[in-house]
Amino acid sequence: MTKRILLVEDEPGIVLTLTDRLTNEGYDVTTEEEGLAGSRRALQESFDIIILDIMLPNRSGLDICQDIRKNDIHTPVLMLTARGQVVDKVVGLKLGADDYLTKPFEVPELLARIEALLRRATMNEQSAVRTDSYQFGNVKVDFRSAEVVRDGAMLDLSAKEFQLLQYFVEHKGATLSRDELLNEVWGYDALPSTRTIDVHVAWLRQKLEPNPRRPQYILTVHGLGYKFVG
Ligand code: CA
Repeated sequence: MTKRILLVEDEPGIVLTLTDRLTNEGYDVTTEEEGLAGSRRALQESFDIIILDIMLPNRSGLDICQDIRKNDIHTPVLMLTARGQVVDKVVGLKLGADDYLTKPFEVPELLARIEALLRRATMNEQSAVRTDSYQFGNVKVDFRSAEVVRDGAMLDLSAKEFQLLQYFVEHKGATLSRDELLNEVWGYDALPSTRTIDVHVAWLRQKLEPNPRRPQYILTVHGLGYKFVG
């Protein structure tokens, strides 16, 4: 099925280049070069990905992102920022943007980000319809009651440990970077270090793995992050 992309960008050169490339890649691209029209379009039509430039006439990309989320639209949003707009990046993530790309960028990089977002959206849909519990080895996770039972005995997991485990299960088989885990499980409100992830993974292994020193469910992917294979 052809994926629909909305691109809201006011630099004609970028609009032209991206429309060309994305169309060549098989995407159906709709463009708006002004903020109000972009926002209206995002709210009225259905897209698979929305790409927002931040600096736009009339309504900024951040405003549009907020419009979208306020209307309960969960379409992945990728923001395009000018170099050095660090504050915008944090604000944007709080407003519900899913990813960022700093200008100038290479088109293949953009394509990779789009593919990753589409993959993630598909997985989220699948996990949403999945059953309320999941079993691996002698461990059973009940997502509804937030309970984890091992060998018939209830485990005492902290809220963060449970959320981390849930994220692992929902993304079974995928290599997850520490940054992704921080963003997805901890969010941007708290500012823990990536070390926090390692500590929580160690705790989860203590509680879930038959032999925590030789994990068989939550694996370390050297240089990249972690992978759940239960
Ligand atoms: Ca702009």
